[in-house]
Amino acid sequence: MTIYNLGSINIDHVYRLAALPQAGETIHSQSYGQGLGGKGANQSVAAARAGAQVHHLGAMGTGDDWVLDRLRDAGVDTGGIARLADEATGHAIILVEQGAENSIVLHPGANGALPADRIAAGLRGIGPGDILLMQNETSLQAETAARAKAAGARVIYSAAPFEIEALRAVLPHISILAVNEGEARQTFAAFGEDLPVEGLLITRGADGAEYRDLLSGKTTLQPAFKVEAVDTTGAGDCFAGWFAAGLARGEDVATALRHASAAAALQVTRKGAGDAMPDRAEVLDFLN
Ligand code: ATP
Repeated sequence: MTIYNLGSINIDHVYRLAALPQAGETIHSQSYGQGLGGKGANQSVAAARAGAQVHHLGAMGTGDDWVLDRLRDAGVDTGGIARLADEATGHAIILVEQGAENSIVLHPGANGALPADRIAAGLRGIGPGDILLMQNETSLQAETAARAKAAGARVIYSAAPFEIEALRAVLPHISILAVNEGEARQTFAAFGEDLPVEGLLITRGADGAEYRDLLSGKTTLQPAFKVEAVDTTGAGDCFAGWFAAGLARGEDVATALRHASAAAALQVTRKGAGDAMPDRAEVLDFLN
């Protein structure tokens, strides 16, 4: 079964600084690194490395071909990624000050200007058993979700970055809502706990994860594996991508959660987001 992922593609530019610049100040960075990011690209890479067939639907500018190479190297089908002449590839300027929270400037670029005809065409093959993955970093969310659901596919939506109105628009069309602890609180405050979805996936960082089957009322808990975390960027995306891949290959919820938790544990021991996603052999090895 195929995972279609309507997802953002970003280039992360990471600058390490002694201190953040003040208004009017110019400072030198101590180091610079470039990596693949965007919640969509991260989830596509995670699901493909988990062994799923992944068809990414999205858009980029006309340069930055290494991004497509990186996605293809991970096993992602990039045929559904439009190249837009008038938009920049989405990117994030990430300022890392030692001992402080990161400061980030995000330019959505092509992610916010997806061509509706290309996305609809990319979704043409979707059907029962397939999964549409989505996050809140692209345009065309509600219409794409509605189309996938009407075709009989399951829709898994990561409500991140959290926006009430974006969630309200997709909620009638999604099957599984994936949130972290903070997003779960905001979701319950806005919509109550009786959500119109079949399942709710809540991740809680080092405290693990749970899946609530809202049709049967059954909750499945998954503790986090104990590891030395060095960079938790993209942990939620790793978890969501692996969980979707597990469901796409027909695994039960408990198995999909266990594999996703092991994958995310491995991912946080490495620097980077999309580039740090482990593959299936690494995860099975970790679990043995
Ligand atoms: P991010 O925004 O950084 O991608 P998130 O807030 O969406 O993360 P989290 O709930 O922090 O997602 O983490 C997702 C999953 O990753 C957790 O449920 C857990 O399985 C794993 N994880 C995260 N942090 C750790 C950690 N320190 N040790 C082990 N596993 C972790």
